[in-house]
Amino acid sequence: MHTKTAHELHELLVNKKISSVELTTALYDRIAGTDDKIKGYVTLTRDEALKQAQAADERLTTGANPTPLTGIPIAIKDNFCTRGIKTTCSSKMLENYLPPYDATVVTKLKEAGAVILGKTNMDEFAMGSSCENSAFFPTRNPWNRECVPGGSSGGSAAVVAARSAVMATGSDTGGSIRQPAAFCGVVGLKPTYGRVSRYGLVAFASSLDQIGPLTKDVTDTALMLNVIAGHDDRDATSIEHPVPDYRSALKNDVKKVRVGLIRELLGSGIEPTVKAAVKGAADQLAALGAEIVEVSLPSFEHAIATYYLIAPAEASSNLARYDGVKFGHRSQEHRDLISMYYNTRREGFGAEVKRRIMLGTYALSAGYYDAFYLKALKVRTLIKRDFDQAFERCDLLASPTTPTVAFKLGAKSADPVAMYLSDIATIPVNLAGLPALSLPCGNSSGLPIGLQLIGPAFAEELILRVAYTYEQNTAWHQTSAVI
Ligand code: GLN
Repeated sequence: MHTKTAHELHELLVNKKISSVELTTALYDRIAGTDDKIKGYVTLTRDEALKQAQAADERLTTGANPTPLTGIPIAIKDNFCTRGIKTTCSSKMLENYLPPYDATVVTKLKEAGAVILGKTNMDEFAMGSSCENSAFFPTRNPWNRECVPGGSSGGSAAVVAARSAVMATGSDTGGSIRQPAAFCGVVGLKPTYGRVSRYGLVAFASSLDQIGPLTKDVTDTALMLNVIAGHDDRDATSIEHPVPDYRSALKNDVKKVRVGLIRELLGSGIEPTVKAAVKGAADQLAALGAEIVEVSLPSFEHAIATYYLIAPAEASSNLARYDGVKFGHRSQEHRDLISMYYNTRREGFGAEVKRRIMLGTYALSAGYYDAFYLKALKVRTLIKRDFDQAFERCDLLASPTTPTVAFKLGAKSADPVAMYLSDIATIPVNLAGLPALSLPCGNSSGLPIGLQLIGPAFAEELILRVAYTYEQNTAWHQTSAVI
């Protein structure tokens, strides 16, 4: 059962071939057999999950509007607030934090009848690309356990790849859904900024953060997006834009779709095997009737520098709330209020989080604000403009999701800049607020390669259609990690 997709399991559930309680139990068996090796989960919620499964079975039996996710066991990244269930952001700061409310996305998934298996490991406060910044333990890549699963949603990607969750949620500020999806050979979608409510997602960089699915195939991504998309009064940046039934986008047809290959992301710095796989995917789309053109987005070269001013600036402000006063860790060692603040933050945050807070505070400080932060905002506009121009010539853009396949644990932890460069293809998309999806398109020495499809704002349907067509005509999504 654990190998099947949500849409396959839905058929079995509605036809009473299996029950959700059986399915959920099977998934916990799978977790017991794999998670010691992968370490994808930080918290398991078995008792609660079995109750949810029982309720789902009743809903399926009485026919009380079961949805395609009713009874489907899923995993939630540990920066989504879950009422009464620990939400740690893989940080010592929130090690024992029990949120008093659910994130809107969690509420929506529960209302749809999904069964929550547990919470997944991540880079602390979503800062990282390898899951090695978790304060608890690193997660391992199911395809090769000496390699990282990517990050920051590494736990979510790894449990989907290890078949120890049917699907999972992630968040993506600079690539945190797509990069681990690519490294773990699963599908990951970062929707348009504002498409999905961020209420209850612990904020990292609020103008960039967006929630999305990590799934075994494109159809399942459409199913989860159907549930989580939409305006929310509790998130002022969520947009009032109609939510289509994303399933209707799943057509095997790319005729006349103009796909632009991004020249800057197929040059030096991209591993030859990755380049070859992406060019192969473009040839395949051309054979299916798409028109492939080459486009240039020259300001991409400034994207990483821009991101590492804007994201830390926003993070330094968002993380100011962890002061030991209202919730989270509080140092036992203090003489007065100020030393309590100091010691709480010194003990509670890991090295990367401290680095980001310092970078951000510096970029925002008087005298440097104009030179760094304001300038970065201007470059952000240039990057957005490059995308606008490219979309005059094509309907979608394509690139590798990552410059390399998954790297070895420890390979980049001593060199932050090398780590930052693994998001070279994903970060520009967040800066422009656009939707993008990663799906498997190849394999190099036993490790998956991801193809990134980027669309204009609210073009999720076109992205899903092209991804679905590619998937229907290739077999990458049918291969899985052996563990
Ligand atoms: N790896 C990037 C960073 O460290 C992006 C992380 C994310 O998308 N949350 O900031």
